[in-house]
Amino acid sequence: MALEIHQFPCLSDNFGVLIHDTERGVTASIDAPNADSVRAALAEKGWKLSYILTTHHHADHTDGNLALKAETGCVIIGPKAEAAKIPGIDTQVSEGDAFRLGSYQVQVIETPGHTNGHITFYIPTANVAFVGDTLFALGCGRVIEGTMEMMWTSLAKLAALPGNTAIYCGHEYTLANARFALTIEPENANLVARAAEVEALRKAGKPTLPTRIDIECATNPFLRVTSAAIRKRLGLETAPDWQVFAEVRTRKNNA
Ligand code: ZN
Ligand code: FE
Repeated sequence: MALEIHQFPCLSDNFGVLIHDTERGVTASIDAPNADSVRAALAEKGWKLSYILTTHHHADHTDGNLALKAETGCVIIGPKAEAAKIPGIDTQVSEGDAFRLGSYQVQVIETPGHTNGHITFYIPTANVAFVGDTLFALGCGRVIEGTMEMMWTSLAKLAALPGNTAIYCGHEYTLANARFALTIEPENANLVARAAEVEALRKAGKPTLPTRIDIECATNPFLRVTSAAIRKRLGLETAPDWQVFAEVRTRKNNA
């Protein structure tokens, strides 16, 4: 049994992702940023779309829903908390729900903050999570609908997944994130090394994703709010974790 994962760039800086259970021949698209791009990726792989798994309602994650559903009859699974905003949604899911995708069990983790209903799809037996616009490599999503405290709670849930969990994200923002991260924790040798790696990958036109939970925990300033060096730099030595997160997020917004 194997889960094949095909990631492809689309729109200006989004990623499309197809997952395919080779044993059962079941295929899902993680979000559908754009029908043409997803259709082309399906054709390239020779896969037939069975599901769209929607992380959140933003147009750059749902624009392809209706066209792809009309063409393939796929079932669209998305967050109950913002179901009214998900075009073509068939099945509404929330925290703790699980469903079968071929021979795999997919678990739903609510990760609100970027939007109020944002969810993550986690497949424990494949060691992979699809986090949409919640966590990015060396960064995190903008807190648009929720509160800073809510977003911090969501990120902490993802940080608690097993270290070897592969993380697929909605966007290629890593280079800008790396440059910002260095302003928050310049003394972090792992971060310095990774920033150089990211520069080289982008120069070569290669994606920096997927990432991994252990790599993010070691280098992503939004997950490193317990670091004494970061707290000292921000003048927040005794603040609760979510306030340190909020300060880092605010600085990124203004960077
Ligand atoms: Zn978004
Ligand atoms: Fe997005």
